[in-house]
Amino acid sequence: MNGNRRELKKMLRKVIHAWTPPFRDSPTGNPWASRARNTWPLVSRGKDSMTRTPSREAMPTLELEAEVTVAPEFVGARYSTSRPSKRVPRRPRANYTSNRSAVAQLPDRRPPKRNRVTVRSFRIRYMKRVLIALALVGSPCLHAQPSQTMFVFQTRFWLNLHQFLSGEAYRRSVKAAPGLDAATLNASDRAIWISAIDPYNDVFKRNMVLDEDLIRIANALAVTEDAMRLPESLDGALGANIAAALNAAAPIYRAHVWPARQRDNDAWIASAKSLMQGHETAMKAALEAVLQVTWPPEPILVDVVGETGPASAITHNAPTGFVAHTQASAGSPCNTGIAPLRLLFHEATHIPQVAGRIAARINEETERQELQPVPNLWHTLLLVTPGEIAKRELGQTEKVDYARYPFCKLQLTPAEQAAFEQDWQPYLDGKTSFEKALHDLVRDAR
Ligand SMILES: [Zn+2]
Repeated sequence: MNGNRRELKKMLRKVIHAWTPPFRDSPTGNPWASRARNTWPLVSRGKDSMTRTPSREAMPTLELEAEVTVAPEFVGARYSTSRPSKRVPRRPRANYTSNRSAVAQLPDRRPPKRNRVTVRSFRIRYMKRVLIALALVGSPCLHAQPSQTMFVFQTRFWLNLHQFLSGEAYRRSVKAAPGLDAATLNASDRAIWISAIDPYNDVFKRNMVLDEDLIRIANALAVTEDAMRLPESLDGALGANIAAALNAAAPIYRAHVWPARQRDNDAWIASAKSLMQGHETAMKAALEAVLQVTWPPEPILVDVVGETGPASAITHNAPTGFVAHTQASAGSPCNTGIAPLRLLFHEATHIPQVAGRIAARINEETERQELQPVPNLWHTLLLVTPGEIAKRELGQTEKVDYARYPFCKLQLTPAEQAAFEQDWQPYLDGKTSFEKALHDLVRDAR
C-alpha cells in the first residue's frame, strides 16, 4: 500500500513538473539582432511621445523601449535607495485572504518560504497538486492551452523584412553598424540591397503606432504568406516603392538573415507560449480584477519580429478577427527570460477597452480634484501593474542587465515613483480600495 502511494506521489510530481515548464534565460541569442537593437538611440522617457490619450477610436500609442520594461524597483516592491524611509513592505502571505480589494483575492503563486511551511500548508499544497493532476489526467493533453487564449503568435517573413529594412535605414542614417553588412555581398546584390533601403529613409522616422500607412502595411504583411514574391494585389496597401523594395531585398534577406531570425523568433514564441501556458489564465483574471475591466473575446495577434524601431514592442489596430495587433521584438535585450509575460500583458492593456477605461478614470479623478493632468499617467499605471502582477504570479524577478541596457529600465520621475510606491502599491497589496489609490496617485504623481 505504502509502495503504491509512493508510486502515485512520484507520478503526480512528474505530472506537475511536466505541466510547469522551466523558464529559458535567453531564447534569443542572435548577435546581429542584438547589435541591431543596440544601435537605436537610448530613448529617454520623453513626455512628448505619449501625448495622445487613448480612446475607442484610436489605439494608443508609441511604445518606447524605456517604457515597456518594469524596473526591478517595481517588480519586487524594492524601490531605489533614494526613498528608503517610505518603502512599502511586501504583503505577507496571509493578506491574500483579506477581502478589502479584488487584488487581495488573487492566488499567491510565489514559492513558499521554507520557514512558513507547516503541516497544514503542506497538506493544502499537496491536495492542490492532486486536484490539478487529476484534472490534467482527465484532460486530453497535458500541454493543452487555456480554452481560449488571448494571444495568437506568429512570425512572418515579409513583416520581419519590412522592420529590418526600416532598422537598416535608421542605422545608415546615424552611421551605426548595419544588421547586414553590404560589403559582404557581391556587387550585384550590394547595389540591390542599398537601393532597397532607400524607400525606408522616410519610414523609420514615422510613428509606427499612429501612422495609418505604416499600420496598413503591417497588417497587410501580417496576413501574407511567405511566398517568393509579394502578390501584386498588395501594391495598393503597401505603396509601389515599398512593395518594390521588399521584393528586391527578399532573396538577399532570405539568404543571409532570415534563417537565424526565424530560428530566434520561433524560440521566443516557444518561450512566450510556455509562460502563457502556465500563467495566462491567472494573469488575465488578476488584471481584470485589479484594473476593473473585462477583456474582449477576440484574441490579440502577436507578430514576433527582429526589431520594432526604438521600442520593445508596439500595439496598434489589427487585421479582421483580432482586437489588436502587437509586434514584439524578439531581438530586444529587454524581452528575454520571463519578460514576455509582463510585456505581452502590458501590450494587451493598450486595447481601448482597457487603456480607454483607465485613462477615463484618471481624467475623471483629475477633474474632480481640479488638478492639471499628469501626462501619460494611464500608460505608466498600465506598465507598472502588469509588471507587478507578473512578478507575483511568477514568484521571481526579471534578470535584465540594466547596467548594459539602461533603456530597458522603466524611468519614472521621482514624484511618479513615490506616488506608485505610496499610493498604488498598497492597492496591489490589498490594503486599500481602487478609488482611494487612484485618488492619491492622481494627486501625488506630479
Ligand atoms: Zn505601452
